[in-house]
Amino acid sequence: MKSLQQNLQQRQRAQLYRRREVVTSAHGVEVMLGNERLLAFCSNDYLGLANHPAVVQALQQGAARYGAGAGASHLVSGHGVAHHALEEELADFVGAERALLFSTGYMANLGIVSALVSRHDTVFEDRLNHASLIDAARLARAKVVRYPHLDHAVLATLMAQAKQPALITTDAVFSMDGDTAPLAELTALAARHGARVLADDAHGLGVLGASGRGSFEAQGIKSGPPAILMGTLGKALGTFGAFVAGEAALIETLIQHARTYIYTTALPPAVAEATRASLKIVNDEPWRRAHLRALIARFRAGAAQSGLPIAASETPIQLVIVGATDAALAASDALRSRGIWVPAIRPPTVPVGSARLRITLSAAHTVEHVDRLLDALTQLPPPRP
Ligand code: PMP
Repeated sequence: MKSLQQNLQQRQRAQLYRRREVVTSAHGVEVMLGNERLLAFCSNDYLGLANHPAVVQALQQGAARYGAGAGASHLVSGHGVAHHALEEELADFVGAERALLFSTGYMANLGIVSALVSRHDTVFEDRLNHASLIDAARLARAKVVRYPHLDHAVLATLMAQAKQPALITTDAVFSMDGDTAPLAELTALAARHGARVLADDAHGLGVLGASGRGSFEAQGIKSGPPAILMGTLGKALGTFGAFVAGEAALIETLIQHARTYIYTTALPPAVAEATRASLKIVNDEPWRRAHLRALIARFRAGAAQSGLPIAASETPIQLVIVGATDAALAASDALRSRGIWVPAIRPPTVPVGSARLRITLSAAHTVEHVDRLLDALTQLPPPRP
């Protein structure tokens, strides 16, 4: 076996070494890294709620009332009235019978898939699914079939050939591509085989649809069985955690069998209180989505006009496809030298040869911010993406 040091050096040589930046300011579209002030386009705080005064105040009041931690898992003594109320409000928000809180989206995906499928079942995964969905099927020891990105025609053939087609899993909005899964087709296909569809709406919830109910609303379909909705709270809702929404029998099954639900400490109740406050803002302030949509349109029009190679995405996740890893890193560094923070996304997060700049827009950005970004992108030194 190679030494850890050798492995790390190899990764460095391949320009795949990952480093963390230490943010020294509060979260927002302008952040400080030490003495460096940056205009950030890299957060998933799509509605600008992570540092909203009402959300922060609800967190503080929740902590004053319930303490800093839940103290135990939900099934022991950690399930409090704040969690319970949030679950009811989330179910109501997405139009599901019930919802169940998980500590993270990653854990929710692991828990759902391993609770629902066994070794004899086949799970179908879009090729560009988030790592947590891929790992979920592996943990369940199910047979895994990966289908070409968004290709439900190929998926239909693969499902017809499988012995026990049990589950299709898909990002509803693809985290590194910004495009969306055809949920109506996937649900119809699942229904035909007596299977289910797990739609991970981490990047759609709060953002897509006229009322922010997410990808199902945006595509004009109901999120009930055979669909299972997973939503995260650490993105548009600005806090932390995740939930699964579906029919009562599904939720009870997860409570009985989802190991990442059973064997972990419940979210701090104060986080649940903060999320209740942000959910209220999602409901009460549609202008945030309208402003975000206007920023997306402005960015896309400006980028197209300048001939930037942007991917086809109508969501706040916008991509400038660069190709080579070193070129993507150089572009990200050049933007940073102009005070703009846009990360380069490299393999293995994206396929080899498709390194890219991943730009995330937020309702907290202004038109001037987007124009500054466009200006910096068009002035990138050659080879320009
Ligand atoms: N699914 C998708 C599509 C995601 O992008 C992410 C987060 N990057 C997750 C799941 C995991 O969610 P969490 O951060 O709450 O673990």
